[in-house]
Amino acid sequence: MKNPPLPRRTPLPLPTSKAIETHDAIVIGAGPAGLASSRELTRAGIRHLVLERGETIGHTWVHLYDGLVLHTGKHLSALPGMPFPSSTPLFPSREDFVDYLRLYARGFDLPVQTGADVESVTGNDEHWIIGLRGGVAMRSRVIVVATGIVSNPNAPEIPHKERFKGRIIHSVEYRRPQPFANQRVLVVGAGNSSGEICAELANAGAHVTVAIRSGARVVPRELFGIPVQYIGAVLDTLPPPVLRRAMRVTSAIADRFRGSSPLPPPTENPCAAVPLIGFHLTDGVRTGRIQLRRGLQEFTPQGVRFVDGSEQPFETVILATGYRAALGMFGSSIARDRCGFGARTNRVISTDSPDLYFVGHNYGPAGGLRNIGRDARLAARLIADRLHGTGQRHTQTRQQPSGR
Ligand SMILES: Cc1cc2nc3c(=O)[nH]c(=O)nc-3n(C[C@H](O)[C@H](O)[C@H](O)COP(=O)(O)OP(=O)(O)OC[C@H]3O[C@@H](n4cnc5c(N)ncnc54)[C@H](O)[C@@H]3O)c2cc1C
Repeated sequence: MKNPPLPRRTPLPLPTSKAIETHDAIVIGAGPAGLASSRELTRAGIRHLVLERGETIGHTWVHLYDGLVLHTGKHLSALPGMPFPSSTPLFPSREDFVDYLRLYARGFDLPVQTGADVESVTGNDEHWIIGLRGGVAMRSRVIVVATGIVSNPNAPEIPHKERFKGRIIHSVEYRRPQPFANQRVLVVGAGNSSGEICAELANAGAHVTVAIRSGARVVPRELFGIPVQYIGAVLDTLPPPVLRRAMRVTSAIADRFRGSSPLPPPTENPCAAVPLIGFHLTDGVRTGRIQLRRGLQEFTPQGVRFVDGSEQPFETVILATGYRAALGMFGSSIARDRCGFGARTNRVISTDSPDLYFVGHNYGPAGGLRNIGRDARLAARLIADRLHGTGQRHTQTRQQPSGR
C-alpha cells in the first residue's frame, strides 16, 4: 500500500548511501507519549526506533522546575502496563516522575536513541525521510510524533522589550526560587505553571506580582479527598459544552467553601482545557503575598506599564505564557487544528497522511498523561492494522481541537 503524498511538502534529497537505516516505525520524542507509544508498538510486534533529542529519556521532565509536582493523581498518570511504585505519593514530584519514566523505559527495554534531534520530516510515496541534526537521515514507513509542547515555548510579543534593563525569561527556563529572593518579579500568565511559580517565589521572599489578562477557572486539586482529575476523568466523557458547565459547577462549589476567586473571570477559550488546579495563586493574592495586576501593555526601561496606565519596576519578568505543539520539523507541510496541534481524525491519525500519528495532542480535565496512555494504545493498534494489513478500516471521526 502506498502513502498518499503530503500536500505542500518540500522533498528532501535522499542520501546516496544504500545503507540508510530503515524502520517500520519511528517515534519522535522519548517523553511519556513516546515511551508509551514505544511500549505499545513493541506489544503489537512492530519494529521501531524512538529518537530523542535530549541526552536522556524524559528530557523535558529532567529540566522542568525543581518544585514541580504532578497535579494529577498517580493512578491516572501512569503509562500503559506499569503502575507507579506503591512508595510514590498520590501526587508524584518531578523527580518521582523522572524515576518512573526511566524505570518504564528499562522495564520494557524500549529502543530509544538519545542525542537524535529530528530537524526535518519529509516524504516520498513509500517512506518518510527523517533528517537529524548533524546530517544523518533515516527512513520509516510510519511516524509517531510524540514531541510534546515544552520544546516550543510560547512568548507573546510585548512592545518595547528591548528597552527593559532587567531580565526576561520564559517559565521553561525557571528552575528554583532562591536566586529571586528579595527581587521584584512579575509573572505573566494564569496557568498552572504561573500559579506554582508565583507561590514558591513568594515563599522564598520575592516581591511577586502576577499579570493576568483573561482570568482563569480555579478548581481544587482534591475534592473531599479525591483528586479532582479522577472526577474530571468521568466528566471527560461528556460533550464539551456540558463539560464546561460541569467545570463551572466545580469552581462554584470551591468558591462556596473558600470564598469567590480574586482572579478575573475566565473567558471561554477552547484551547484552555486545563483549569488552574489548586489554590496557591488565589490564596497568595487574597493574603496580599502576591499582587494581582491586569494585562501588560509594554515594557519600560525599569519595568512595565500595565493596561490601566500604571507603571511598576521589576528586576525580572517571567513569561508563564504556555507552550505550543512542537511540530517545527514539518515546517508548514502539515495541517494544524485551531490550537496548533496536528489536525487529526480518530484522536491520533493525521488528516494529511494515514502513516502519520500524533500521541500527546489530546489535553483535557482527565489529564494529558491519562490521554497519552489511551492514545498510545490506539495508535499502536491502528499502525498494526496498517502495517500488518489486517484489513480493518479506521473509523474517521472528526477531532475536537485540543487545548491545554
Ligand atoms: C509544567 C507542566 C506540568 C504538567 N503537569 C501535568 C500533570 O500533572 N498531569 C498531566 O496529566 N499532565 C501534565 N502536563 C501535560 C503533559 O502531560 C506533559 O506535558 C507531558 O510531559 C506530555 O508528554 P509528551 O511525551 O507529549 O511531551 P514531553 O514530556 O515534552 O516529551 C517530548 C519529548 O520529545 C523530545 N523532542 C522534542 N522535539 C524533538 C525533536 N525534534 N527530535 C527528537 N526529540 C524531540 C523532547 O526532548 C522530549 O523528551 C504538564 C505539562 C507541563 C508543561
